[in-house]
Amino acid sequence: MTDRGLTDNTCGLILKRYSGFYYVQGTTGALFECKLRGKVKDGVILVGDRVRFTQTGEGQGIIEEVLPRTVELIRPAIANVNQVMLVMSFDQPAPNLKLLDRLLILIEHLDLPTVIVLNKCDLPGNRTIETISEYYQRIGYPVILTSTTMCIGLSQLLAAMSDKITVIAGPSGVGKTSLLNLLVPGRELKTGQVSRKLGRGKHTTRHVELFPLSSGGWVADTPGFTVVDNPLIKREDLSRLFIEFGVSAERCRFMDCLHSGEVECGIKDAVEDGTILASRYQNYLTILTEVIERERCYR
Ligand code: GDP
Ligand code: ZN
Repeated sequence: MTDRGLTDNTCGLILKRYSGFYYVQGTTGALFECKLRGKVKDGVILVGDRVRFTQTGEGQGIIEEVLPRTVELIRPAIANVNQVMLVMSFDQPAPNLKLLDRLLILIEHLDLPTVIVLNKCDLPGNRTIETISEYYQRIGYPVILTSTTMCIGLSQLLAAMSDKITVIAGPSGVGKTSLLNLLVPGRELKTGQVSRKLGRGKHTTRHVELFPLSSGGWVADTPGFTVVDNPLIKREDLSRLFIEFGVSAERCRFMDCLHSGEVECGIKDAVEDGTILASRYQNYLTILTEVIERERCYR
């Protein structure tokens, strides 16, 4: 079955919603302007949803069914996201490990893979950049260096994004919009216009759109996760979001060790001998305190 013939049971991906229509990309790459079959309720479809649709005319169709989702992000509202590209910059703003760890555990909590992108590699880096490239890469996060001004790292980025739905996240000013403009030629988003003081929900009113990439795959045209809240978790679940802690935690004396005040703690030993980065542990302790504090508020 092809998208060219008048067929039903064709599968597609929702790229955007605009003036009452859904724009669906069929399996051959062609775009269809679709309405909903009566039984499919408006409001249940998200960008990123995979749907079954019937072609009703040239470039037109009707959506019959929404297929089950794997993931559902709320901000930005996108279904079936496969990964997050977490962008930091060499400088302006300087990389911040506290923020990086907060963003990473948020993405871990969503059960999504992260690729760390270090943009502005045309600027001089510092020790923190080296730490990210070495330590974070070693514990399992792929790290890609890019420069949008010098056009460095683009092919690596595209390769890492092929066949996946990717959301770009990171603090303000690191070059997320510039990266999007590079990845999706012809799509000029305004750079450097975002206020330094990003308020909560800044991007919630914008319509999200997925853009097909030249390497295959799609990128959401809106930066996500600029504002960081701790994930809603219990204190005993926090250490699991620090992905390298697991191995060392096996050596803790207590099964329910929180790795703070306890004796014979595998995590503390690992920090001592340099296996675990001291700042990772410090950030863990800070967030642990916040999580415990919030548990108290809700009790
Ligand atoms: P966003 O807030 O993360 O979307 O960041 P923008 O894309 O708006 O970029 C913020 C500023 O950084 C702008 O002035 C860009 O021109 C600049 N910028 C973006 N990428 C690079 C880069 O690779 N190198 C340098 N030196 N500046 C960059
Ligand atoms: Zn412990």
